[in-house]
Amino acid sequence: EQATQSERAQIIDQLLEAEQQRFADTHPKSQSLWGEGRKNYLYGGPSHWMRRWAGGFPIYVDSAKGAEVQDVDGRTYTDFCLGDTGGMCGHAPEAVTEAALAQLKRGTTTMLPTEDSIWVGQELAHRFGMPYWTLTTSATDANRGAIRYCRMVTGRQKVLVFSGCYHGGVEEAHVEIRDGKVGLRNMIHPNGVDHSKVSHVVEFNDREALAEALESGEIACVLMEPMMTNFGMIPVAPGFNEFVREKTRETGTILIIDETHTMSSGTGGFTKTHGLEPDIFVAGKAIAGGIPAGIFGISEELAQRIWQEVPHVNPKKRQSAHLGIGGTLAGNALTVATMKAVLSNILTDENFDKMIANAERLAKSARKLIEKNNLPWHVTQVGARAEIMFSPQPPRNGADVIATRQGDLEVLLHAFYMNEGILVTPFHTMFLMCPATTAEQVDKHTEVFAKFISLLQENGV
Ligand code: PMP
Repeated sequence: EQATQSERAQIIDQLLEAEQQRFADTHPKSQSLWGEGRKNYLYGGPSHWMRRWAGGFPIYVDSAKGAEVQDVDGRTYTDFCLGDTGGMCGHAPEAVTEAALAQLKRGTTTMLPTEDSIWVGQELAHRFGMPYWTLTTSATDANRGAIRYCRMVTGRQKVLVFSGCYHGGVEEAHVEIRDGKVGLRNMIHPNGVDHSKVSHVVEFNDREALAEALESGEIACVLMEPMMTNFGMIPVAPGFNEFVREKTRETGTILIIDETHTMSSGTGGFTKTHGLEPDIFVAGKAIAGGIPAGIFGISEELAQRIWQEVPHVNPKKRQSAHLGIGGTLAGNALTVATMKAVLSNILTDENFDKMIANAERLAKSARKLIEKNNLPWHVTQVGARAEIMFSPQPPRNGADVIATRQGDLEVLLHAFYMNEGILVTPFHTMFLMCPATTAEQVDKHTEVFAKFISLLQENGV
């Protein structure tokens, strides 16, 4: 068994080398640009995330439209990565482009509201069910702002998160449980911070651990996705979201639901689809159609408590009502105009129906192939999002992912996908549909996935 495992690892490694060579041979211009980029960017690209693609270096994009990306080497990709959700509206969607162009000519950022913001505020309240909103420049910022309010009103320091979570560059959420011990997630550098003071981490779907942590009275808020999407998709156990709500209420803990990804569940996100009742609703990425933006909405009750701590300002006096929340460009005219275009024209029920049908199509065909070839893999699909995982069953929590994950096979699949003209998020095998995604593009994935299975079989993996 040991020998076969190491043989298998060796074969996967050789196959990956061959795929990376194929990638290098067919992407000379991207490779050369990457060489240049490394001279002036700390981690090669303008964002450190860009170094994490399986080809060995990223493709450099020439243009992107709908669900397609064209690179500088003249190759075209069907894009299921969609900017890791930032492109969920599709690339260069007309309504956003038109709104952005019009606003660019009328000024983008003045530290003053525009009339469009009234419509956007009303729509956010109607759509997601929270009365009071704040706009930010990213989902990270929305989470950071939300956490600050939670500490303000509870006087408590700790944020509870679930092992395997990701909520952006939020220090409190960089923790995980591995081999029963609490540590820093994903080899993140501890950064000189004592996380035991500011964070508490438990396994997802673990009612006992959650209840015990909340009963300590030290937790300001629970920060969670309503199902996990950043460590592979981890489905939520029946009743768990309701249990979290009940326990947070009982213990005076604030509940933040981060829908930055799960917004792909439907027009009102997972929250509306499943009737959840967060105190704070967070989203970002796609909400302004690819223009940097985040949002968080606050319940009536929590808003009242916040106003007691920090009242509305009276400009007659230079009173200090600084909130300690950054964002000079937050809620600027460009963001608001593009958000209006997204909410009125793109993330509509009609488009969601198409997106969800395509995600179902992808999941169904992938499952058929898995079954036909007797593979110990599974597919999860929720709304417009699907994921292929190399384990027989959906994980219940982060520990299950750690125990079953086949990272080398994932990297091989991703390199193979890129060589065959398909993009998925580089961190795990997640697929997202946009309104422009077609059934033909989904079927192209099915063909490529079948080819990948053949490649493994031919090589005895
Ligand atoms: N929350 C969730 C659930 C996310 O998945 C992410 C990014 N993957 C973020 C927040 C942070 O988003 P951003 O990097 O755009 O700030």
